[in-house]
Amino acid sequence: MKNVTNAAEAKREIAKLKNHNCAEDDVFFQAMEEVLLSILPLLNSDKIYDKNEKNAIIQRLITPDRVIKFKVTWLDDNNVAQVNRGYRVQFNNALGPYKGGLRFHPSVNEGILKFLGFEQILKNALTGLPIGGAKGGSDFDPKGKSDFEIMKFCASFMRELHKYIGPRMDVPAGDIGVGGREIGYLFGEYKKITSTFEGVLTGKPFFFGGSLLRPEATGYGVIYFTRKMLELEGKESLRDKVCTVSGSGNVALHAIEKLQHLGAIPVSCTDSKGTIYDARGVDLVLLKELKLTHRVSLEEYAKTHPESTYTPVSKYPEGGHAVWEIPCYAAFPCATQNELTAIDAEKLVKNGCMAVAEGANMPSTTEAVAIMLKKNICLAPGKAANAGGVAVSGFEMSQNAAMQKWSFEELDEKLKATMEDICETVSSTAKEYGASGNYVVGANIAGFKRVADAMMAEGV
Ligand code: NDP
Repeated sequence: MKNVTNAAEAKREIAKLKNHNCAEDDVFFQAMEEVLLSILPLLNSDKIYDKNEKNAIIQRLITPDRVIKFKVTWLDDNNVAQVNRGYRVQFNNALGPYKGGLRFHPSVNEGILKFLGFEQILKNALTGLPIGGAKGGSDFDPKGKSDFEIMKFCASFMRELHKYIGPRMDVPAGDIGVGGREIGYLFGEYKKITSTFEGVLTGKPFFFGGSLLRPEATGYGVIYFTRKMLELEGKESLRDKVCTVSGSGNVALHAIEKLQHLGAIPVSCTDSKGTIYDARGVDLVLLKELKLTHRVSLEEYAKTHPESTYTPVSKYPEGGHAVWEIPCYAAFPCATQNELTAIDAEKLVKNGCMAVAEGANMPSTTEAVAIMLKKNICLAPGKAANAGGVAVSGFEMSQNAAMQKWSFEELDEKLKATMEDICETVSSTAKEYGASGNYVVGANIAGFKRVADAMMAEGV
């Protein structure tokens, strides 16, 4: 890509790339387009990044180092062979070993993993830790599978993946559909194959090498980031404010928990089938029981709390989501990519929402981002706001390497400091490049600079 110095040129170059790639890369192009358009102020002011003919920095950054694809065959409980696809996208290791989660979900394909891996490069750079970017996973659906089936799938997946990972090479973690249970099975198989007990995965259960605070880290981190952003932007704090949250998985549960710690009132949660609105505040004990212990639909929540409202997804055939219709001070999309659309953004604006912080990766569509920025909603992009998870994964790697265990309080202090530091860096970078208050621009430029500088220093 040559001399991209304005939006029209950037869009033309991306269109060219699109024509040469497959359709499933759509979300990857969306992520790439956002980054390339928002780093234009840097490319225009600092010619070492702009003159790509010499360093080809952008071309090198948007091309993964390698994409590993493999077959995963496993036996279900009826002894019938099942076949899934497995992937690892090792995107960029300029700053350190590849690092990024594994996603098990039927929607997983190469394009989704390229988008997630690309975002991960800049996110990991923002943490200031020595880690590169990667992502992996499978189209395997853990829903409805027995523990034994999950174990057999994870073992089979690891039989192939182990060839490409290692504590100094690539350290995967969890993501959608991959929590402590799956990481445990994956780690167990890696250990059997290699006869080594080493920090090759993060998000491990605590009693065999996991870090305290890892389960909470992403959700807590989003709220620490938001608190700092509101302070920097001169807005009121979260105390006593109504907040909406989407998702009811790892990130959402802990975002709700931290909001409650800070005296805010989170009133919603969602899953892939519907939305709960509980005006008195979400009953987190019940929610955890339903989602972590019984793994059932949110419809069950309304059976225990009939005063809450359950809205199934099917009520919105035209697009838009019930959760973003609820008036709130701050909104936290914590489920999945592109779950907050232009229709939703308009509703948030209309209802006076002041801040949106992305717990999920790229939960807002391009159009939704444009609307929110135009209407001066403080928007914390996922690659900055949800970096707490990978930061504590980085701390898990340090603890494993040093054979140490840090306390919950120590880790929480480090997480807070990391999120506040990222927020300040993002905010000051945005100011420096003439986009004060635009955290999307700030995050993309700050992350890009760190990676690009390392790539140039390391040579071609
Ligand atoms: P979980 O699997 O724990 O939870 C995902 C939640 O999102 C569930 O409530 C799930 O509903 C819902 N969901 C998933 N896919 C869809 C969909 N297509 N439509 C509607 N709802 C959906 O995942 P996490 O909480 O770990 O991850 C959530 C987001 O946060 C993802 O974007 C992930 O990449 C990102 N993230 C996660 C980190 C982590 O540490 N876990 C770190 C940084 C980012 P249901 O149960 O019905 O499927």
